[in-house]
Amino acid sequence: MKIPSPRISRHDPSALLLKRIRELMASEEGVQERLDHFVKLIASSMRVNVASIYLRSGNGLELCATKGLKQSAVHKTKLALGEGLVGRVAARARLLNLANAPRHPNFAYKPETGEEKFQSFLGVPLLRGGRNLGVLVVQSKKSRRFTEIEVENLLTVAMILAEIAVEDERASGGTKRLKGIRLTPTKPETISGKPFAGGLAKGQAYLHSPPVLAKQMIAQNPKVEEERMGDAIGTLRKSVDAMVSGETATLDRASKDIFESYRLFAYDRTWVERLREAVHSGLTAEAAVERVRNEHRARMLKARDPYLRARLHDLEDLANRLLRILAGENLDKTHRALPEQAIVFARNLGPAEILDYDPSRLKGIVLEEGAATAHATIICRTLGIPLIGQSVGMLDRIESGDEVLLDGEMGEAYIRPTQTQSADFNLRVGLRAALSKAFESQRSLPAKTKDGQKISLLLNAGLLADLPALDTVGADGIGLFRTEFQFMIARSMPRLGEQVELYKKAMTASGTRPVTFRTLDLGGDKILPYADPVPEDNPAIGWRAIRIGLDRPSLLRYQLRALLIAGSGVHLRFMFPMVASVSEFLQAKTLLAKEMKRAKKLGITPPEKMEVGVMLETPALAWQVDAMCKHVDFVSVGANDLMQFFFAADRDNPRVASRYDRLHPAGLSLLAHIAKRCKLHKTPITICGEMAGHPMEAICLTALGYRNLSMPVTGIGPVKSAILALDCEKLAKTLKPLLVSTTDSDSLREQVMVFCQKNGIPI
Ligand code: PEP
Ligand code: MG
Repeated sequence: MKIPSPRISRHDPSALLLKRIRELMASEEGVQERLDHFVKLIASSMRVNVASIYLRSGNGLELCATKGLKQSAVHKTKLALGEGLVGRVAARARLLNLANAPRHPNFAYKPETGEEKFQSFLGVPLLRGGRNLGVLVVQSKKSRRFTEIEVENLLTVAMILAEIAVEDERASGGTKRLKGIRLTPTKPETISGKPFAGGLAKGQAYLHSPPVLAKQMIAQNPKVEEERMGDAIGTLRKSVDAMVSGETATLDRASKDIFESYRLFAYDRTWVERLREAVHSGLTAEAAVERVRNEHRARMLKARDPYLRARLHDLEDLANRLLRILAGENLDKTHRALPEQAIVFARNLGPAEILDYDPSRLKGIVLEEGAATAHATIICRTLGIPLIGQSVGMLDRIESGDEVLLDGEMGEAYIRPTQTQSADFNLRVGLRAALSKAFESQRSLPAKTKDGQKISLLLNAGLLADLPALDTVGADGIGLFRTEFQFMIARSMPRLGEQVELYKKAMTASGTRPVTFRTLDLGGDKILPYADPVPEDNPAIGWRAIRIGLDRPSLLRYQLRALLIAGSGVHLRFMFPMVASVSEFLQAKTLLAKEMKRAKKLGITPPEKMEVGVMLETPALAWQVDAMCKHVDFVSVGANDLMQFFFAADRDNPRVASRYDRLHPAGLSLLAHIAKRCKLHKTPITICGEMAGHPMEAICLTALGYRNLSMPVTGIGPVKSAILALDCEKLAKTLKPLLVSTTDSDSLREQVMVFCQKNGIPI
């Protein structure tokens, strides 16, 4: 695996230019004077006729300094984003290198600048963190394309310039800033996204990829920086080696490729060479990492191929690790340092990256990407912290240290909030505290409906961190233990002993309450950090879960072995995910039989009681319930997947995921059908997935015949409140006529809401 990067020859160091920039930085000039000096310096050292700086102003760009264009155009020439060549660079955050600029279709003639006589054009965006502050342009009369070395140099200068401009503005508290230009956001803003994990949090913004400060950018002593970079790469490699040195022998082919992918990057010559070249050009080790990372980021955003995007994300992660090593952090021991009450802002985060942070300080997360059922989301729910995602462009509007109010219920974050926003928010925090007190008072009450139906409220879990919640919310057990989480957050494939230990801990924490393990549900969006993902066009309906388990039987057998050891002499319950046909379940049972035989041979005491179930997550299986019930001890409906397949709406695709309502009569009818068939066969049935954790949905499920509801931890309190106030029979009667196939309604939410209001059910 090669990092896609252009080959660039070892270039003449731009050390002299950087040295002069450092001198410029040390001077006590105003921002305008500094920019004027900057452009002169660039024009002379790059031997070009024009060097200009355009900065973002309002919704457009403004010429703020130039050497070579008419001075009278400074602060007069303005461009809309996307207008002209400069506007195009800004809008796309991509450089433009042209030999004949006036011929480009985007060339916009601005007579006040005298620009038309210059043929060659090189414009680079002024990127800082996720933000694009403007454009740095050089132009020449002679028609030629700028060399890769010149492009390199200008990118480096742009990076430093962006940082200096922002630091100048901040240091002067805004007094020295350029008139009408604001590089750092100061106004209150509301950032909107999708509410992926609920809860309210107050804190200060922390950028997951903090920018390297300008004063840290130019090397005092390049030799020292080369050594620092060499040492840091060495340490990085060691830590990556440690990550991948797990047990591989018993896991055969699947694991062989898996372990190598991350390591390949750390040892990739192109990447390392690019870092060394950047240091060689006069940058500090930190700035070199930032510089190379910026390049990859630009490429990552362009990449359409999800496989490549995932790889480049790994590279960003490695760059972050390198920066942390350079800052003297010990990656293997400490949690990543965070300010108190931190709200982390990032483009995207994997589960391992979240768990790297000190959980006592991490109060919430905001992502530009992310998905409702992505593992990062599930981890946040587990940690009980709010997460909003799909907040496109928000990194443009946030600075580390900004005050933030994060509303994981509505999917909004208030940045630099107004007094009114703060007061409203505090009120809601107070109300929530009162509500959770009310839930607490119900904790030891059984969840029984008013007409006497006992409902089991179970927890969806997967990590050690989830287990204490069993008691704090008073759950009746674990209805879904997602065993793949352990695999997803591990730095290498968990060994047998580690799997056994986790399963035992879950059962011990649960005591006499049942725990239902689900065998590995990998694939789809659940990708192992140490695995080489297999690119697929439709991963949700691709090679995942039981399909991998049956095609790679040793992987599934290894897990069954761990379950049998953990369940030795006790009550063991587990189920297979994503089964679409009865025969798949039977094949999995054959593998189980082999493992049981092996365990017996080794003298391992069998479980005192063993129940093996199936997850009903595919519409096909809903039409095989009668056949399935003959073979299973229980059925668990995975409503997340079942509904995405039923409505053909990818649960990870924000464009379509919320097109159907969870109370759609067709969906409810399907669920009613499944419950009815299971009841007929006296097969116990549970429903898990996000649906069961919402009070309105939960009472409908109860009315359809479900008596075991498994849900995220935050659902238990509100669902119990609703169940305690429910007359199940009455709701069943209300729903019955609404579930007929002749209905053309696309949601029963309205009717259920009215029912709740009339019957005093809190929702
Ligand atoms: C489901 O599909 O409803 C389910 C519980 O499994 P997961 O969300 O882990 O796919
Ligand atoms: Mg599922």
